[in-house]
Amino acid sequence: MLPDINLDRVKNTLLELSHIGFNQEDKGIYRLGLSEADMRARYWLINVLEKEGFEPVMDGAGNVFGRLGTPGSPSVTMGSHLDSVPAGGMFDGALGVVAALEVLRVCKEHGIETTYPLELVATSEEEGRFGGMFGAQAIAGQLTPDFVLNAHDADGYKLADAMQRVGLEPLDALTARRNPGSMRAFLELHVEQGPVLEASGNTIGVVDSISGVFKWIVRLIGKADHAGTSPMNLRSDAFSGLADFAHEISRIIDENGSDRSRLTVGKVELKPGNPHTIPGEAIFTLVGRDSDEEVMTELSMACRRALSAIARRHNLMFEYEQASWLGPMQCDPEIVSLFERHAKNLGMAFERMPSGAGHDTQFMTEITRAGMIFVPSVGGVSHAPDEWTHWHDVAAGTRLLLHAALEMAELRPAVEDDRGAALETGQM
Ligand SMILES: [Zn+2]
Repeated sequence: MLPDINLDRVKNTLLELSHIGFNQEDKGIYRLGLSEADMRARYWLINVLEKEGFEPVMDGAGNVFGRLGTPGSPSVTMGSHLDSVPAGGMFDGALGVVAALEVLRVCKEHGIETTYPLELVATSEEEGRFGGMFGAQAIAGQLTPDFVLNAHDADGYKLADAMQRVGLEPLDALTARRNPGSMRAFLELHVEQGPVLEASGNTIGVVDSISGVFKWIVRLIGKADHAGTSPMNLRSDAFSGLADFAHEISRIIDENGSDRSRLTVGKVELKPGNPHTIPGEAIFTLVGRDSDEEVMTELSMACRRALSAIARRHNLMFEYEQASWLGPMQCDPEIVSLFERHAKNLGMAFERMPSGAGHDTQFMTEITRAGMIFVPSVGGVSHAPDEWTHWHDVAAGTRLLLHAALEMAELRPAVEDDRGAALETGQM
C-alpha cells in the first residue's frame, strides 16, 4: 500500500493560500493574472518549495515549478493555476497546485523514489484576463511576440505593462516554452465548476475531453416602426425572430447535437431599444459547444438553417459573423483509463465526463499526454466567493492524483516491502 495523503496538511495549505488576495468586503479572492496579489501567491509558493527542498524556479511567463527526483529525465508534471477571477473562490486552480504539492510532500516524507521525477507547476494567468491562457500557452510554445506585446485586459491595460510592473520581462515569456521531451505527462486536478457530479453523487469525474467552442455574432434585421400604428401582420419584428430561434434551440440539439452539446444566447441587444418602437434589429451572441468537432459543425449548420427559415417567416434579413472557433481537445486515453483504474481500486465512485470549460490541460495536450480529474463543486458554484468542495472530495481527488502520478513516474523497487502491491494493477 502507498502511504496516504495528509488531508489536514492539504486543508491548511489551501486555507493559507486563500488569504492571499482575499477581500474582506465580499469575501472573494482577487488574484487577477499578473497582479500584485497573484505574484504574492507565486512568491509564497516559491518560499514553501524552497523551504521543503523542491527546487523552485519561475520561468519568463511567471509559471512556478518545483520538483522531486532526478533532473534530466522527463517529468510527470502536476498542477493548475494560482490566479483567480475577480471575487473568485478558494478552490479553482489552487486545488490542483496544492494537491500537486501534497504529492511531492508525501513522496519526500516517505522516501518514495521514482524513475521519472515528479514536478509541480503553478501556471500563470489562466483565467484569461489578457485574452488567453498565458502561462500554459507559454509552456506549450503557443505565444507570439505580437500577442505578448499587444494583448490587453478589458480596461485596456497591457499585458506587457502588467508583466514589467511585477518584474517580468515581457519577451522572456517566449523562453518559457518547454521541450516536449522534457515532460512525460501532465495531470491536473480541478473542481468541476458545474452541477454534474453533485447530481450523480459521484466523487470523481475523469475528464476525457475539453469541449470545443464556437461564437457567432448574429444580426436579425427587420424594420423599426411605431408600435401603435403598425398592425401585427405587417411587422418585421427582429425580436420575434430571435424569440423563435431561442425556442428552437432544444430541437436543434435533439436533432443535430449530442448530450454534450450546448447552445447559448448570452448577450442580446435590441435596436432602437425603445418601449414604443418595434425592434428593427436584434443583435445577439450564439455560443455552441461540444466535445466532438463534427457535432460542432452539424450544430452550426443547423443553426444557420433555422435562422434563415425564421428570417423568411418573419420578413427579416439575417447575417452572422463567426467570431471564433476553437476545436475540442481529447485527453490521453491511457491516462483516462489509468485514472479510472485507480479510482476503482481506491473504491471511489467515478464517471467519465467532458469539461465544458477551458483549462490548462487543453494547452498541455500540445506538448505531452495530458489528463484531468474533477471533484464535485457544491451547488455547481464556481468563480464566486461561495465556491466550495467538501474536504472528503478534496481528499479523494488528491489521493487519486498521488496514485496515478506514481504509476506514471514508475515507482523504484521497494524501499518498503509492501509497496509493490500498488503496482500489481499494471504499468503504463
Ligand atoms: Zn480554473
